[in-house]
Amino acid sequence: MIKRKKVVKILKYIKQGQTIGIIGGGQLGQMLALDAKENGMKVLVLDPNPTCSAGQVADAQIVAAYDDFAALQQLAKQADVVTYEFENVDLAALEKLEKTIWLPQGTELLKITKNRLTEKTFLKEQGLDVVDFCEVNDEQELKQAVKKIGYPCILKTCEGGYDGKSQVNINDSADLNEAGKLLRQRKCILEGWLDFSLECSVMVARNLAGEITVFPVSENIHRNHILHLSIVPARIAENLQQVAKQAAVKIAKSLDLCGVLGVEMFVGKDGRVYINELAPRPHNSGHYSIEACDFSQFAIHNRAICGWPLPQITLLKPVVMVNVLGQHVCAIKKLIQTKPSWHFHDYGKDQALLDRKMGHVTILTDDLDKTLVEIEETKVWSD
Ligand code: ADP
Ligand code: MG
Repeated sequence: MIKRKKVVKILKYIKQGQTIGIIGGGQLGQMLALDAKENGMKVLVLDPNPTCSAGQVADAQIVAAYDDFAALQQLAKQADVVTYEFENVDLAALEKLEKTIWLPQGTELLKITKNRLTEKTFLKEQGLDVVDFCEVNDEQELKQAVKKIGYPCILKTCEGGYDGKSQVNINDSADLNEAGKLLRQRKCILEGWLDFSLECSVMVARNLAGEITVFPVSENIHRNHILHLSIVPARIAENLQQVAKQAAVKIAKSLDLCGVLGVEMFVGKDGRVYINELAPRPHNSGHYSIEACDFSQFAIHNRAICGWPLPQITLLKPVVMVNVLGQHVCAIKKLIQTKPSWHFHDYGKDQALLDRKMGHVTILTDDLDKTLVEIEETKVWSD
């Protein structure tokens, strides 16, 4: 049983002109900051990189490591409300600061979601479907776990992984050696491989008054474990969309969520919805909402942490969102000239490294199939 500290949070209303502090200066922080500026807030970012994405659009930046306690104290002092844009923040430092900092998302949410084992155990305890999983600490336990779960399976570090990093697919005993190497680095979880029919996600948000709002279901296509594109609405039956949304709402309630939460799911060939993982923040698969919904995931997150009321979300038009990775950047710059109705987002990162998320493209459409063919035909993403 996951032990949880019940924290009673008072409602606090953050007004226009006050300051939102964001821990983390990546693209999620940047898009949060852009929305916050539109709404008349001041934005202070904490990130070690002086040219980080969010710092470029914020009022000010504290250039420091995420676990620099003095810097976090400075952020707490200068900001009226603090949020985080990724889960690998320093939990212990935030817990220490919780009395002096207004952190409506809280640290309990972080504690559960930053560790895959705690997260999956929590989801299972909520009665939700998850793949078979097992804690694995050494090679002996790995052998036992593989015996129990069976091939194919996947070994992941409990903490710190993203975009498929720190994961090893295990198809047969020949892969155990590679898995052993990962295990020697960190504590791991072994998961059964689910032969799903598709992947989807739901962004859900809640404020401390208990209002909940849910975004439309996004169908997600990954390449090399990295999100390639999102299609909204997901091409699944209406009743499955409802199951997915209800699961997201259930999770939001049971976590006493404040802010936006991304819920990644698999739709199994058995027609069941399995929860894959949670992101306690805006999520890549929710970027489509900037143009395709009446409120973006960033706007809703800011509203929730500022204690503003939450609207119900309307999808204005079907949409495809495609990620731009380092290897796509050159071709994308040329593509802008040929696609007047596509929305090109660039996060302003200076190094276009292989597989690094550099931007995304949003395409509103009345014909999803035609748009998917159009994306293929550009050959930008045929790597
Ligand atoms: P992260 O997104 O943090 O890198 P995920 O657990 O979401 O880690 O894994 C990345 C992708 O790998 C998933 O979106 C999915 O495509 C695939 N994947 C991960 N775990 C499984 C699993 N147990 N069964 C099938 N596919 C999986
Ligand atoms: Mg994921």
